[in-house]
Amino acid sequence: TNYITECDEEVGKALQLELGRQRRNLELIASENIVSPAVMLAMGTVPTNKYAEGYPGKRYYGGCEDVDILENLAIERAKKLFGCDHVCVQPHSGANANTAVYQALIKPGDTVMGLNLAHGGHLTHGSPVNLSGILYNFVPYNVNDDGVLDYDEIRKLAHECKPKMIVAGASAYPREIRFDIFADIAKEVGAYLFVDMAHIAGLVAAGLHQSPVPYADVVTTTTHKTLRGPRGGMIMCKEEYAKAINKAIFPGTQGGPLMHIIAAKAVCFGEALKPEFKTYQEQVVKNAKALAEAMLEEGFNLVSGGTDNHLILVDLQNMNITGKELQNRLDEVYITVNKNAVPNDPASPFVTSGVRIGTPAVTTRGLKEEDMKTIAKLIKMTITDFDTKADEIRAKVTKICDKYPLYE
Ligand code: PLP
Repeated sequence: TNYITECDEEVGKALQLELGRQRRNLELIASENIVSPAVMLAMGTVPTNKYAEGYPGKRYYGGCEDVDILENLAIERAKKLFGCDHVCVQPHSGANANTAVYQALIKPGDTVMGLNLAHGGHLTHGSPVNLSGILYNFVPYNVNDDGVLDYDEIRKLAHECKPKMIVAGASAYPREIRFDIFADIAKEVGAYLFVDMAHIAGLVAAGLHQSPVPYADVVTTTTHKTLRGPRGGMIMCKEEYAKAINKAIFPGTQGGPLMHIIAAKAVCFGEALKPEFKTYQEQVVKNAKALAEAMLEEGFNLVSGGTDNHLILVDLQNMNITGKELQNRLDEVYITVNKNAVPNDPASPFVTSGVRIGTPAVTTRGLKEEDMKTIAKLIKMTITDFDTKADEIRAKVTKICDKYPLYE
């Protein structure tokens, strides 16, 4: 950033501010992480200059022989990591990956089942404001009163609405998802099973969550969440859908691939294949469990009562504070979370009655179980004593951040 500041002071200054914020704050947004210097540097490299429409060996531009090496490295490593038949590493984002999957396998107007956004699903799983919900006839399924997926209910709904596709996967679901059961249900009704494992891809890569790859026709993920790579997406599928999937990305929905990002994806997959990555993911889960226990001890209600993965969903209705207000207050004390609807939330999506808290980024930073206890206490203090103790909370956050320095 120093060099950028020399060339462009305004942009450089803004980048310095963001680096300062990341160093100063405890990052607890469940969909975020902190990439390695190698992943970071790969994103700022020369393939950003290159057009490479098409796929390795079959490009529409000359001079692609070297970027072919990069894309093939990303492909081979992703296949090894997840054990899939085919992978397309070109999606610019998770949303693009999902859009392409629908385009490849179904037609506008077809019926699709997806987890309700208000119950932990993602916008691209059929929200009326997203292209998915505009083009396809989405029938949402919900979590039950305990906050968990009820596979019998999902099966019943599938038999009733006879979808062409069932989407499994979530943005705010703290429990393991049984892809084997989803596969049985999809088979019974003759639907494709499409799994969006964006949030849990790192856990899947490390063998800590059931892999959807053997069960689903198509699997998408982002590469920047638990997987700890550059911002981007990818699609894995059985060989029989390979052509349709590739075509739906290019020329179907995207133009030239971001070859510098694909280079960074290759670096990320290389890191994820190392034993240290498994240790890291194990710590992500341990930290989430420790945080869940500590939050329960502080009197918080958690949707589903706890967590199996990297995130918890806190229901604040007994705490007399909205998700929006807590997110704002935590920003003031250098703790970053996002407000999040809880199932059957009486508040609007802009206000919400919950917050989602995740451990991937703070675990990369080095935080351990004992730090989770401190964080739970600080969050509670932010609710009960914000007016009198904000300085004290900030000082405690700063102490933790200083203990685990970032990008030094
Ligand atoms: N799918 C799931 C389950 C997600 O949680 C997200 C992002 O939050 C996405 C897809 C979209 O990814 P992107 O923001 O890269 O488009």
